[in-house]
Amino acid sequence: MDLHQNLIGGEWTEGPDAADNINPSDTGDIVGRYARADAAQTNAAIAAAKAALPAWSRSNPAQRHAVLQAAAQEIMARKAELGDLLAREEGKTLAEGIGEAARAGQIFDFYAGEALRLTGETVPSIRPGIGIEITREAVGVVGIITPWNFPIAIPAWKIAPALCYGNTVVFKPADLVPGCAWAIADILKRAGLPDGVLNLVMGRGSVVGEAILSSPDVNAVTFTGSVDTGKHVAAKCAEHMRKVQLEMGGKNPLVVLDDADLDTAVSCAINGAYFSTGQRCTASSRLIVTEGIHDRFVAAAIEALQKLNVDDARKDGTHIGPVIDQRQLDTDMKYIDIGRGEDGAKLAWGGERLNRATPGFYLQPALFTETSNSMRINREEIFGPVASVIRVKDYDEALAVANDTPFGLSSGICTTSLKYATHFKRNAEAGMVMVNLPTAGVDPHVPFGGRKGSSYGSREQGKYAAEFYTTVKTSYTLP
Ligand code: NAD
Repeated sequence: MDLHQNLIGGEWTEGPDAADNINPSDTGDIVGRYARADAAQTNAAIAAAKAALPAWSRSNPAQRHAVLQAAAQEIMARKAELGDLLAREEGKTLAEGIGEAARAGQIFDFYAGEALRLTGETVPSIRPGIGIEITREAVGVVGIITPWNFPIAIPAWKIAPALCYGNTVVFKPADLVPGCAWAIADILKRAGLPDGVLNLVMGRGSVVGEAILSSPDVNAVTFTGSVDTGKHVAAKCAEHMRKVQLEMGGKNPLVVLDDADLDTAVSCAINGAYFSTGQRCTASSRLIVTEGIHDRFVAAAIEALQKLNVDDARKDGTHIGPVIDQRQLDTDMKYIDIGRGEDGAKLAWGGERLNRATPGFYLQPALFTETSNSMRINREEIFGPVASVIRVKDYDEALAVANDTPFGLSSGICTTSLKYATHFKRNAEAGMVMVNLPTAGVDPHVPFGGRKGSSYGSREQGKYAAEFYTTVKTSYTLP
């Protein structure tokens, strides 16, 4: 089997080690063999990014536009194949994989345009004869560290703005999903990106990630992943006084009010809680339902759950693919036991390990009822196809419960009341609010991010990404 190598200074380079990329729908299927870098190779990648920085940060915007546009076009043209690779290595359904690949293409397309729309400001000085210019410049070498659950979209929404604004990159994807990461690096290299501008270093967080965090030559780090790793990343960045951006976990609430359209509410809950196997930072894991609709909602949700096919991610008719790996499956099962045991919740549906034609990490989506917001299953991020219903008296209690969490990424409400929808949009303590829509599922050209324990630093995506990927310069001129 061919080895997929790291990309360092424009050269495909073998790692000191390599690992198999395993299909979670069929553990006998090896997606490919991928290099694993060590600290020395990571430092070589950082050195290459540093060497490439002066030219790329001053490059003609038309050059950056052309590279990003070419990458966008190739990703779009190959979205079916890349979506299949994604489904095979991560376990999302084929439709979700293709959708995510298309989204990566849209993101590159957006930042191709942004490269041509860079502007600054001129401001009159309060001192006579002086002119002031405010401009944005690249931050420098950006370390990009990504999680396994969106293997093409998250790298895209970090790499595209980094390159657009003239930064050079050292990119470390999650160890479980090197396939999509390698494909993006390959596409960008062939799109004409100069050597060293994007370096791909696959491998372990404790080795490659640590080498990025320890290098004095990395000027900024953007990270998406778990809260514990995020805190460590922030602490290491503080040591180096370097810019950092973190996107982390969630425990997102979906409020369902008595006046909601039941079909809409159930479809938002099922999509938000279980699609992508519940492995989304924006998943609706807490379903907060008012008394008047509670029993009808639970009955309809269980009916909908019974119709979900859990199977091979790439098989026709599959709604829910496997969990990513044994470790995550163990975590999901542990929380299902906690819910039934120490929390004392009622497991109303699912939670069973499933066997299919191929050996994979299949889990029947689980729904808990009779839960309270103080239970561990409602406080801690599980990151699997597990959701809870929390019964509340009225809107006021629903809002209070929705906000009573250490997280603050996405927050949703299903209601036909303009009054409650408007109040919720103003008072939900979250970076993103959804009305009659699932908590997961966002557009690629507007800001993404959260509050409280979910995010740290400035927003990702859309024009707001410029806050992180650029640094502001104020120049005073006396002609
Ligand atoms: P993780 O924290 O285990 O790993 C994330 C990345 O950090 C990986 O590339 C990993 O190799 C690397 N890493 C691990 N240890 C490191 C270290 N010591 N130094 C540097 N890098 C290190 O997270 P995961 O399991 O890959 O992803 C799941 C988590 O990501 C969930 O908590 C989920 O909510 C979160 N997530 C958040 C968002 C968001 O935008 N808020 C989006 C997707 C996923």
